[in-house]
Amino acid sequence: SSPRFFAVTQAVERSYIMIKPDGVQRGLVGEIITRFERKGFSLKGLKLFQAPKELAEEHYSELKERPFYPELVKYIVSGPVVCMVWEGPGVIASARKLIGATNPLLAEPGTIRGDFGIQSGRNVIHGSDSPDNGEREIALWFKEGELVEWTRNRTHMLAFRA
Ligand code: UDP
Repeated sequence: SSPRFFAVTQAVERSYIMIKPDGVQRGLVGEIITRFERKGFSLKGLKLFQAPKELAEEHYSELKERPFYPELVKYIVSGPVVCMVWEGPGVIASARKLIGATNPLLAEPGTIRGDFGIQSGRNVIHGSDSPDNGEREIALWFKEGELVEWTRNRTHMLAFRA
């Protein structure tokens, strides 16, 4: 006999997702938010923000020794970014799939970078690479009180009833 219910196996996580200055300048904000919304994740924080240099440096501190680091920091502060927190089961890995490979030329069509970019140095969007980094980045980019506690009603998209 076939099982009636599917187990939910993915832990609920939060990812820090940021539309980089090129994404904002090119008018991709709505398009990108739509992709996360229709996937089914919950938006817990959202703001347009001009990052100070120190924050961009701290965000990418793991890449400090890389040759592209100074250019990367300049790029991130070159205009406003859209800071977001998306929450849901497995959102860290899933968001990285939606975003695609770091180099947009290698990113699959259908992904955000695959659809909208041609250079690693202008790759439209950031997504946390682990749950720990997600929490670290959320704490870096959002202040206490900027995130909203609410529950998205999922009764129309999940194959089970609580
Ligand atoms: N980056 C770049 N040149 C490179 C590699 C990375 O400009 O050769 C930039 C790019 O904006 C990338 C960011 O540095 O998104 C962080 O690099 P990482 O390897 O963490 O890639 P991601 O996790 O963003 O895919």
